[in-house]
Amino acid sequence: MNILILNCGSSTVKFQLIATHLELIEQNADRHLARGTIERVGGEAVITLQVEGQKEQRSTSPLRDIRAAVDFIARWASSPDSGIAEIKSIGDIQAVGHRVVHGGERFTRSVLITDEVIRGLEECIDLAPLHNPANIKGITAARALFGEGLPQVAVFDTAFHQTLPDHAFLYALPYQLYRRYRVRRYGFHGTSHRYVAYRYRQLRHIARDQTNIITLHLGNGCSAAAIRNGNSIDTSMGLTPLEGLVMGTRCGDLDPAIIDFIATKEGLSSGEVETLLNKQAGLLGISGLTSDMRELLAEEREENDRRARLAIEIFCYRVRKYIGAYLAAMNGADAIVFTGGIGENSWEVRSRVCKDLQWLGIELDEERNRMHVDGREGVISNNGSRLAVYVIPTDEELLIARDTARSVLEKSK
Ligand code: ADP
Repeated sequence: MNILILNCGSSTVKFQLIATHLELIEQNADRHLARGTIERVGGEAVITLQVEGQKEQRSTSPLRDIRAAVDFIARWASSPDSGIAEIKSIGDIQAVGHRVVHGGERFTRSVLITDEVIRGLEECIDLAPLHNPANIKGITAARALFGEGLPQVAVFDTAFHQTLPDHAFLYALPYQLYRRYRVRRYGFHGTSHRYVAYRYRQLRHIARDQTNIITLHLGNGCSAAAIRNGNSIDTSMGLTPLEGLVMGTRCGDLDPAIIDFIATKEGLSSGEVETLLNKQAGLLGISGLTSDMRELLAEEREENDRRARLAIEIFCYRVRKYIGAYLAAMNGADAIVFTGGIGENSWEVRSRVCKDLQWLGIELDEERNRMHVDGREGVISNNGSRLAVYVIPTDEELLIARDTARSVLEKSK
């Protein structure tokens, strides 16, 4: 089954084409046929396309909205120019899987999209006003293009964390705020945490309910999850992705009184402060240089930049605190898993996060640690470490494709 995976944002559409099927899933033999990104949708869009095994191509084209971007992707994929052997016409795309940011409390797993599901997504707009409308536009664009008959599946960033117990998801606010508006921790990056937890149990040959790990997704956005008996029991992002770890441009945990304090001092509205906390804080805010960890590490190494070092230190310290907190929340774990652009590639960050954690039973083998970059999966702790430490590259699109294939096959049974 050839599946188009769409991740629609307000001005960016990311896609992949993945060939999968139940047998391929069992053999881990699914194929990534092509991938691409369309940025600056709404104007002269910048398009990056890559077919499996070939070089990346870049171009520009005026694309006025998400619908035009989705049309462009489908036309390109099914044209002879793309050279994707499996897709000769639009009919060779057999399902669409959508990454949807917020599923609220209603969606606890991936679902086949119906009119009722779309209404449910609309009800979650309040919780993710920037993201869910773009996801819905992607769904309606794909419906218009492929017709109502083509199965489409929604896969939620929040769904994996719906197993959090109430003592972990409730904030210590007046309870009626939860009752009235569903103010609570939802957590995000669920597809990534779920995927690496699944890979971990495959690598260890254990069952789902034997999976007791802390997963650290460190990319532009960062989050930690405590996974006990295969289920997420706590996670660092909250009602929105702003809470928790320090991120590229987001502050993570913060005294809530700071918002009003900054608003008064700087003459900003609360909305403007929230934008500052989302877009100008984190690694960028502390360093005053960049949100990019690779660049910060280079600045520190080559220029001995004090604020670059401080940004990296604050970032790593926050991750360490979460490891400690989650080990207590879970009554211990068997492993820590690093993933995301930083977690998969930066041996320096991994080394600094795990430094001085030997009391907790975490000890890296620095040689192994340095070898696990560029998508290499495996163990980086030393043989005496009580907790194993893994690097597992994430693949959210693959999980979306597999969920899509499973949902379609379940329906046809
Ligand atoms: P997103 O969360 O948008 O998917 P990624 O998972 O791609 O982002 O992560 C991007 C982050 O990963 C950036 O901060 C980037 O600098 C960092 N990164 C990628 N490669 C390296 C590397 N070799 N060393 C350090 N950081 C890296």
